[in-house]
Amino acid sequence: MESALAAAEKVLAPLPELSPDVEEMYKDLHRHPELGFQEFRTAGIAAESLRACGYEVHEGVGGTGVVGLLRNGEGPVVLLRADMDGLPVAEDSGLEYAATDATGLRDGRQVPVMHACGHDVHVACLVGAARLLARAREHWSGTVVALFQPAEELGTGARAMLADGLFDRVPRPDAVLAQHVSPLAAGHTAYCPGVCMAASDEVRITFHGVGGHGSRPEAANDPVLTAAAFVQRVQMIVSREIATGERAVLTVGSITAGEAANVIPDTAEVALSVRSFTPSVRTRVLASIERIARAESDAAGAPRHPDVRHSSGFPVSRNDDALTDRVNAALRDRLGEDKVHEIGPITGSEDVQHLADAAGAPLYYWWVGGWESEEFLRAYRAGTADRDIPANHSPRFAPVLRPTLGTGVTTMTVAALSCLAAGG
Ligand code: ZN
Ligand code: ZN
Repeated sequence: MESALAAAEKVLAPLPELSPDVEEMYKDLHRHPELGFQEFRTAGIAAESLRACGYEVHEGVGGTGVVGLLRNGEGPVVLLRADMDGLPVAEDSGLEYAATDATGLRDGRQVPVMHACGHDVHVACLVGAARLLARAREHWSGTVVALFQPAEELGTGARAMLADGLFDRVPRPDAVLAQHVSPLAAGHTAYCPGVCMAASDEVRITFHGVGGHGSRPEAANDPVLTAAAFVQRVQMIVSREIATGERAVLTVGSITAGEAANVIPDTAEVALSVRSFTPSVRTRVLASIERIARAESDAAGAPRHPDVRHSSGFPVSRNDDALTDRVNAALRDRLGEDKVHEIGPITGSEDVQHLADAAGAPLYYWWVGGWESEEFLRAYRAGTADRDIPANHSPRFAPVLRPTLGTGVTTMTVAALSCLAAGG
């Protein structure tokens, strides 16, 4: 039986030869981004690549999801997940392979589309890892499930795949592994032990007033003013009701009311995004939002209470301790001790936890740097990385090809090997 380190070395040996393919695939995916549940082209590329190296392929799982299955003897089942969707963002990266004229359908409208979250990196790297694992079957044993998920940004893709019988088609995994490219130095990875990403909730509130002429507010009841007072007051929840050691984020991302300057509308609608890391903070923030909405409405003498509609998008993501240690040991062996960094939880959210929960399997989720090291370190040392390095969802989000893609293929491959059984 060979050591895990020796196996990783052998499995990764063809990477230099594979890298031009991975880069070409990445550039092609970047040029052709697709919105959630519209990833037909991307899914086709993933399915074709898996089929070409011997995977049993299931397509159209939960809409556009693709799952490749590679059975290779006795051993654990490992699920490797990449999300595929782009965002309704107009690209401004200046890259030669930018998606300058890509569009997609959102709410019945044509909108610009960009891979502004780097899911194209995840797809290209998982295809690379799937190919390497398929080529070197004598060095590991078990089953690889390569899963390409739609609509992560909508928070519904993982659940759609589960609802469509994902685990009736492929075996339940013993471990779920996923990675995300982020504004860190390329060649490096980062992780957060335990709860690593926030739960996300959306709240939509309709304030009711009484419409009328803009010149005679005394004869109306102005819901715009009520909504404005609410928007101010609601930010006091985090600063006044949540302990300093706890974390929550509350953002009003949309206010909609009225059509004309001289008409007081009947209603005003406010939409909020809430991020939290514990059930108690989540419950308190959501209850306080509702309390303040009603109180502001009462204070304004509104004709009726506001309508409050709540939808839950993402659960918290939680890294399993034992799996984290196991994969990190392998990553440190391969990348070097100084390349694997522990960081705190981030307020972004993910739906990969649904896959792990449904399988009853532990999750390990890590970040892969995508920025040129010198540029990143300069900004980091100056304390300006938040402003100088375009983060995920920015129209200027532009990971460097090298060593980002090679690192992403390496990390996914090494993580998978650390969970599979040793080869002969
Ligand atoms: Zn995103
Ligand atoms: Zn993302």
